[in-house]
Amino acid sequence: MIKCPKIKCGYENPLANENCVHCGTFLGFPNVNECLQKEELEALEKRYKEKVDSAAGNGYDDSRIEFEEIIKKSMAVINVNLDDLHMFVVGNNTLYSSYQLQTGGETRDFAPSEFDRERLGIEGTLFGSYGRNIRYAALSIDGKGLKSYGDFTIIISDTAIEERATLLEENSYRFIKTHKILAGDISKRMPRGYRAVWNDRSKLTVARLLEKALLTTVENYAKIVLLSTGNRKTDDFIEVHIYGKLSNTSIQAVRGNSENVREQDKDMIERIKDYLTADSRQWIEE
Ligand SMILES: [Zn+2]
Repeated sequence: MIKCPKIKCGYENPLANENCVHCGTFLGFPNVNECLQKEELEALEKRYKEKVDSAAGNGYDDSRIEFEEIIKKSMAVINVNLDDLHMFVVGNNTLYSSYQLQTGGETRDFAPSEFDRERLGIEGTLFGSYGRNIRYAALSIDGKGLKSYGDFTIIISDTAIEERATLLEENSYRFIKTHKILAGDISKRMPRGYRAVWNDRSKLTVARLLEKALLTTVENYAKIVLLSTGNRKTDDFIEVHIYGKLSNTSIQAVRGNSENVREQDKDMIERIKDYLTADSRQWIEE
């Protein structure tokens, strides 16, 4: 539950509420409020601290700090195909929508039924009814994204999401399976300490990946944090959950290869580049 911050009100609201049901005061983003629960913060801190202490004990404190500083500058990235990129960048008032809102608003068809059920089941298990407001991204330290979702990587600007993005330490499909979480079974609910608010992303990443990082060198950190294999089943990444509308003003840069496209698509690429640079955003050639 979350208490309404308005002193005269103080009504205890369910965590899924964005606004106080009694007085309408904004309570914060539900995904953020979930990660800010005391038990959740304590569990994350405990996991993080164990890794920090163990690294220090083995004489790896400097490497741990270096890894952590790099993660503090990490970005949220979303991969899309060229058509979707073009629509998002060039379109007026286009929003990057969520699956449930798109299918609900009939702008896209349902995925084949087994995927549709799986997707809704996982969103429902992780977020409950506010799952429809979540947009998914991946955490990246070099701006490269997951090619299995599309050849072009949108890098989202920090200011667009820092208040409303949270992280889950691995992709939600896999997380639910790894931890055997079952919707409606209280004994198998979400374990604590595997989610974090945007500003705690380095803690979550250290908790999950520090050992791997210490076994390698700085050049390989990007691949440890986000492994793009071209296959969604074997991709490995930290999932970013962004609450609410995402417009093309949130684009900081786009990465892609503009040479490696079909001849008839070259115009589209040029238009995308023009729109981006006209607005002093970056095209990064791969
Ligand atoms: Zn209230």
